[in-house]
Parts: sequence; structure tokens; C-alpha cells
Amino acid sequence: MDKRGYLLLDDVTIAYGKSVAVDRLTLELAEGELLSLLGPSGCGKSTTLRMIAGFVPPASGHVMLNGRDITRQPPHKRNIGVVFQSYALFPHLSALENVGYGLRMRNVAKSERRERAKAALETVGLGAFAERLPGNLSGGQQQRVALARALVIEPEVLLLDEPLSNLDANLRAEMRDEIRALQQRLGITTLFVTHDQQEALAMSDRIAVMKDGLVQELGAPLQLCDAPRSAFTAGFLGARTVIDGQVEAGTFRAKGAGRLRRGRSPGRRSPRRRRRRARSARLRMCRRRWTGSSITTASTSPRARCRSCWNGRGD
Ligand code: ADP
Repeated sequence: MDKRGYLLLDDVTIAYGKSVAVDRLTLELAEGELLSLLGPSGCGKSTTLRMIAGFVPPASGHVMLNGRDITRQPPHKRNIGVVFQSYALFPHLSALENVGYGLRMRNVAKSERRERAKAALETVGLGAFAERLPGNLSGGQQQRVALARALVIEPEVLLLDEPLSNLDANLRAEMRDEIRALQQRLGITTLFVTHDQQEALAMSDRIAVMKDGLVQELGAPLQLCDAPRSAFTAGFLGARTVIDGQVEAGTFRAKGAGRLRRGRSPGRRSPRRRRRRARSARLRMCRRRWTGSSITTASTSPRARCRSCWNGRGD
């Protein structure tokens, strides 16, 4: 089988009534790859993830997993682990029972269920917390229980829907690194949904940038940062300055660059503008001079003081 097409979304459209949330999406994940769906709220990331998990049926198109067509399979028959933003843990079940729940649904015998759930909790570093209820665990620990619950079924694909957004900034960075290390250690094919570009850049093998139900651009993090093909991608990945223009014969020419250059040339500044610049330079000097001076009063603004300098009263 083609390693690239381990998980394949083939021309998938998803609609809620008449409203199209995902429009003819084609995307493939290689085995063992972590691909992020990155985009603003409402662009169709979670809908795509829910469709892969089997919770939302596509209006058209196919989903192939490891060579099988799973488009019409119910969620519990797909071997897919999901971690939701809210963790969705059962509050009345212990961490161990929460993790073992998916195995119970798959009719795994009790003793094996216990062993596998324990091992999954060990994997995420929570072996000592097996008997705790979710309410007695921290946010990060609950997040790990949710991760263990997704991993315990030995899924062919792991789907992570904004799993870090309920954590504080420090824990988020820590969990981000932990999840990535675990994903690489287990070699599990993972689709990660996020609107946070730093998360996507830090964790992904590739990123699909989405907007309005469409993938705008797909590539490795560095490739998207260094050579984005659209202003949207550049902006979403954190570029603060986007210069409009075009490449002609290998040279980038900014739109209106000629006018900008003329405006900046000191020789072409109008006398009024030169006077204004000189005044503001003097203002800066005066501010420095008056700082800490006994003449400075609380009610006198720096500008007013400088006016008095120019009137010959202070300078
Ligand atoms: P994202 O995850 O990128 O924030 P979603 O996939 O949740 O976006 O939503 C994509 C679009 O589908 C949005 O316009 C949203 O309002 C709409 N949508 C999501 N869920 C439903 C639903 N259950 N019923 C109707 N529209 C929905």
C-alpha cells in the first residue's frame, strides 16, 4: 500500500442542511505522520475530524483507512481514537475505568481490560492515579486520561480536537511536547486540529491551512513559514507585514514602491515637514532635559513645557 495514503479523504463534502462546512476536501496522511488542520474558528476543522471519526456523515466523497473504505462504517467499528477539547471523561468513573471504557464497548474481557488500561495510564505517566475520579485530577492529568483512553484501543489513527486549549500556557507547552514525543514513539498516524499556529508549527510533520471549508495550503511547517503561497497563510502563520507586489524576471517588485522611495528621501521632504521633524527632535531633547527638574510640575505636560522653552522661558 502507498505509505502516503494510509488515511485518505477523497473529494469529501460535508454539509449541515444547506450550509456546506467542508467543500470537496482531498487530503492524505502517511502512516506515522502527524498532520495539523490549522485555521480560524468555523473553517471546518472539527467537522472534518468528526467526519473521520464517523460522527458526521459526508454528503459526498470517501474516507479510506489503511486501504479500507470506512465512509459508511459506524464510529465504534472504526479503529480510531479521539481526544476532544473537553476531554469528555465520565465523572463517576475512575481514571482506570474511563480508560477501559472503550475496551468494554469492544467486549474485551475484564482482566485484559484492566491490564491494558493500566498500561495505557503508565504510558501517559499516570500509573499512580488509576483509582482517582476525574474531579480529583488536574486539567493536565484529565487530558492525559483522555489521551490514554484514545490510545488503549490501539487505534490505527488518533484524532486530536484542540486537546490543549483548556490548559494554561505553561502546561500547554509541556503537553504539546509530550504528545508529540508519544506520537513519534508509538508511530501513530495523527490528525491534530488547532487554531494555534505555534502549536501546529511545533508539533506537525505537515500542516493543512484551512479557510472557509477549503484547504488553502499544505506543506511542512518550515516550507509554509518560509515560502507561503498566499497572504492568508502568511498572516495566519504570524507574518505581520505583507507587501503587495509581483515577481518579474526573478525580482520582486512591490506595488507602489517608487512612490514610497521618493517619500523617504530626505532631499524631497517639504520645508514644512522638515520643520516638523526638527521640532519633534527638539521636543525629545527637552523632555530629556526636563526630567527630574525642579521646574517640572505635575500639571505641565512635556509638550507645554517645550512650548515654554521655545518662548525663551526655559531653554
Ligand atoms: P472549526 O472547527 O474550524 O472551528 P467547525 O467544523 O466546528 O469549525 O464548523 C464549520 C462550520 O460548520 C461553521 O460554520 C459552523 O457554524 C458549522 N457547524 C458546525 N457544527 C454544526 C452543526 N452541528 N450544525 C450546523 N452547523 C454546524
